Amino acid sequence: MNVTLIVGACQAGVQIASVMRERGDTAPIILIGEEAHRPYQRPPLSKGWIKGELQPDDVILRTREWFADRDIELVTGDRVVTVHRTADGTGTAVTEGGRRIAFDRLALTTGASARRLPLEGTDYHGVHYLRDADHAISLQPALADASAKNVVVIGGGFIGLETAAVARGLGKNVTVLEAAPRLVGRVVAEETSAFYLGAHRRRGVQVVLDARIARIIGGDARVAGAQGSVTGVELEDGTVIAADLVLIGVGVIPRTELAEQLGLDVEGGIVVDAAARASDGLTVSAGDCTMMPNPYPLGMGGSIRLESVNNALEQAKIAAASLLGEPAEYRSVPWFWSDQGDLKLQIAGLSTGYDSVVVRGDPDTEKFAVLYYREGRLIAADVVNHPAEFLAIKSALIKGGTISPAAAADVSTSLKSAIVLPDAVNA
Ligand SMILES: Cc1cc2nc3c(=O)[nH]c(=O)nc-3n(C[C@H](O)[C@H](O)[C@H](O)COP(=O)(O)OP(=O)(O)OC[C@H]3O[C@@H](n4cnc5c(N)ncnc54)[C@H](O)[C@@H]3O)c2cc1C
Repeated sequence: MNVTLIVGACQAGVQIASVMRERGDTAPIILIGEEAHRPYQRPPLSKGWIKGELQPDDVILRTREWFADRDIELVTGDRVVTVHRTADGTGTAVTEGGRRIAFDRLALTTGASARRLPLEGTDYHGVHYLRDADHAISLQPALADASAKNVVVIGGGFIGLETAAVARGLGKNVTVLEAAPRLVGRVVAEETSAFYLGAHRRRGVQVVLDARIARIIGGDARVAGAQGSVTGVELEDGTVIAADLVLIGVGVIPRTELAEQLGLDVEGGIVVDAAARASDGLTVSAGDCTMMPNPYPLGMGGSIRLESVNNALEQAKIAAASLLGEPAEYRSVPWFWSDQGDLKLQIAGLSTGYDSVVVRGDPDTEKFAVLYYREGRLIAADVVNHPAEFLAIKSALIKGGTISPAAAADVSTSLKSAIVLPDAVNA
């Protein structure tokens, strides 16, 4: 029968099913997700959703009709708890709800879960994480509640800063506590971090860098056995920052438990090759859960785990091809976006290993770009509030081209006209 089982019904899982149908596969496809919701987009959760601007239908990936039209069996609200494969590649998965699913082809698109902070007080009422729709559904009314005046965000990464911007926009007193010396330091250059620090502070967000948090504190519950509500976050130096609501955004942990059951290689994610095949050569995997060979032609090589919609979709296309026995190799220019209030950041390429940067435009205008170079060659860029320049840079990187640092630094030169294509680069 060639039944395909896809575990994890979100960006990567839906994309695999979609591409398999586009390529003419007519065998049964079962797409199963543990969340009660239909597959949805996560990016709006930390943006329009928690602002109260969106309804469930605004964030779903595909309608019920879409799945029905393609004869893709979508199962929601049931988690695969055990899975095993025999030597001939066939296997069985068993769900929490007692389903037994026999399969011939298997894709793991299990994503990641919010990293929990091992800190006293995280169980107080009013302490939130933000990874999935249920988190957002509980965070949105908590933010809308006028009596929640003080919001503390633990973690100055993208999700923390997006949430901080929304909370500030709702009139809250917002404090971001970041353990590192700069914001989003794992991903962007000092110039971009410094811009975001200034921009959030200008909008009235308090930002504490090098923050050392001792514990989250809260009031006693009025009812025995019930948990009290958060009242603040205490730093190691004894300072207490008042909080009616705390959002913890300190990264994610890839979901690898099923891969481990199958005996697949797992090292900071499910290890896959450029064809999105796991170490058994049969199972495919895509998205946030994978550790893969760096797909970026101008990258530093080695292995990488990317957390972005673009990566989930592109890698899923490769995984679908592999399931169908078609040769495919994942080579792609990564891109990403983050909307923090009125600040739209778009990132093209990967900046790992850069040796110099060019700042194009004046960051004080809140419309500028930071271009990253390695040995004089453009490898990535962070672009703030300038989608046209982002597109020009992304297009240059996709074509394997570059833009000279001198042209990049000169705002009177159009980036589009300054792209030098590969023949000229390699001449
Ligand atoms: C709040 C938020 C904002 C974001 N903003 C951006 C953004 O602006 N730009 C951007 O590019 N990216 C953004 N991202 C990241 C992006 O959403 C992810 O990279 C993308 O969703 C990854 O897709 P995925 O399918 O690999 O994994 P996931 O989206 O994590 O989906 C995996 C699914 O598998 C399910 N699952 C896991 N194990 C099992 C099991 N055993 N049985 C059944 N189901 C299982 C999970 O419940 C989950 O639904 C954001 C993420 C979050 C959380």
